[in-house]
Amino acid sequence: MAVERTLSIIKPDAVAKNVIGDIISRFEKAGLCVIAARMAHLSQSEAEQFYAVHRERPFFGELVGFMTSGPVLVQVLEGEDAIARNREIMGATNPKEAAPGTIRADFAETIDANAVHGSDAPETAAQEIGFFFSDEQICPRG
Ligand code: UDP
Repeated sequence: MAVERTLSIIKPDAVAKNVIGDIISRFEKAGLCVIAARMAHLSQSEAEQFYAVHRERPFFGELVGFMTSGPVLVQVLEGEDAIARNREIMGATNPKEAAPGTIRADFAETIDANAVHGSDAPETAAQEIGFFFSDEQICPRG
């Protein structure tokens, strides 16, 4: 296993529920470290760019509307196998199908408002990290 970085977003539904700390605690317990973080309220154009891969999907408009509906916390997580490990603890996209004890099972209600985003592959992780953070804003552990 290699040390990897992944982009995580705590989405507007989870920020509104005031469970940022609970979710970060899940990351830390899974061996992932926060090496960059900032709050953001995405503009329509930022959300459209970030989710451009889903542009043709029927839920695109609602997804952009949801992601711009309130503040989010964007973070870079680092650790062994960080991309897969993060997705494992996030749980399935649809919280109703997410395994018990996963973030989405415990904090999300619906497939669109599903608490967290996590990069799905090394290439998308690098691209998504670069979308939100410059190299100087990332602070790896010594
Ligand atoms: N999404 C949605 N309706 C769907 C499928 C996805 O609103 O039927 C949203 C949901 O917020 C999801 C995001 O689009 O997290 C990206 O979808 P993807 O399939 O990449 O899921 P993820 O990687 O987030 O689990």
